Amino acid sequence: MLIDSHCHLDPTVFGGDDGVDDAIARARAAGVDRMVTIGSGYGFESAERALAVARRHPETVRASVGLHPHDAKLATDASLAGLIAMADAPEVLALGEMGLDYHYDSSPRDQQRHVFRVQLRAARARNLPVIIHDRESAGETLAILDEEGAWETGVLYHCYTGDVAAMEQIVGRGGYVSIPGIVTFKNGETMREVAARAPADRILLETDSPFLTPIPFRGKRNEPAFVTYVAQKVAEVRGVDVTALADQAAENTRRFFRWA
Ligand SMILES: [Zn+2]
Ligand SMILES: [Zn+2]
Repeated sequence: MLIDSHCHLDPTVFGGDDGVDDAIARARAAGVDRMVTIGSGYGFESAERALAVARRHPETVRASVGLHPHDAKLATDASLAGLIAMADAPEVLALGEMGLDYHYDSSPRDQQRHVFRVQLRAARARNLPVIIHDRESAGETLAILDEEGAWETGVLYHCYTGDVAAMEQIVGRGGYVSIPGIVTFKNGETMREVAARAPADRILLETDSPFLTPIPFRGKRNEPAFVTYVAQKVAEVRGVDVTALADQAAENTRRFFRWA
């Protein structure tokens, strides 16, 4: 089994509902059995749209809902509460992506922290795992996860770009890391090292489509079908068979998201 644990199947970037359905069909044809579409990162409405895709593809797709740190500036307590309430839908497996992004600083940092903590508390109250986006927060994301007791219900660092030492901090706390197509990039040496050394039971695979298109498709819009290239490269650096690696990552994904 092969799963894309993190894609943004948003109709606004995939050419409408038909474009999303076509991308899912191409993924199935490429041997991708399941996908988690992330309802976070394209404004508040991306959660609603992700849920709609999951409802249209009950065999293949589940959703997460959340507010991305880029969009933290859009949040009011009421709008955030409305978003979080969507997590009660059975198609929603997690809250996120959420976290801190001090690279782009698209929202003021105090707002990023506030929106992050509100979502962590909501996930804990609902016994849901969380998907973390962390960019250049210099350990602050980890500190907040510790303070909020987030590890109890499950923490996944998506598009993991830290080094091996930081990865060990995450898995040491019971967390998971997800490897994107950067692992195929020429300058992806650190990620290949992480992919090689992450414990077998903590590694997930993702595309983060429509971005981060793996080699050999760089320059093209990314899509879930291309998680096959991520799997191939991760298997190569770990020195294992690609089918076994895909199965192991799929098992980890299902355990993390509690997706039978
Ligand atoms: Zn992200
Ligand atoms: Zn993402």
